[in-house]
Amino acid sequence: MNVQCVICHRHEILEDDSPLAKKLRNRPIHTFMCPTCYERIRVNTEKRKQSGNFRLFHDHKKNAGF
Ligand SMILES: [Zn+2]
Repeated sequence: MNVQCVICHRHEILEDDSPLAKKLRNRPIHTFMCPTCYERIRVNTEKRKQSGNFRLFHDHKKNAGF
């Protein structure tokens, strides 16, 4: 099965009977992301989640005027 990554538009070949290929066939709305983009999105999401709890950034901003 030939799929295309929605982010970088790179073409990938999936095994026809792999779980992911079946999922994409059954749900056309489900979009494919290549491992590289998937990892990038995952890391960015983690960073965003963490930055909400970081006080370090806040303190840094407070001292920026000096
Ligand atoms: Zn990609």
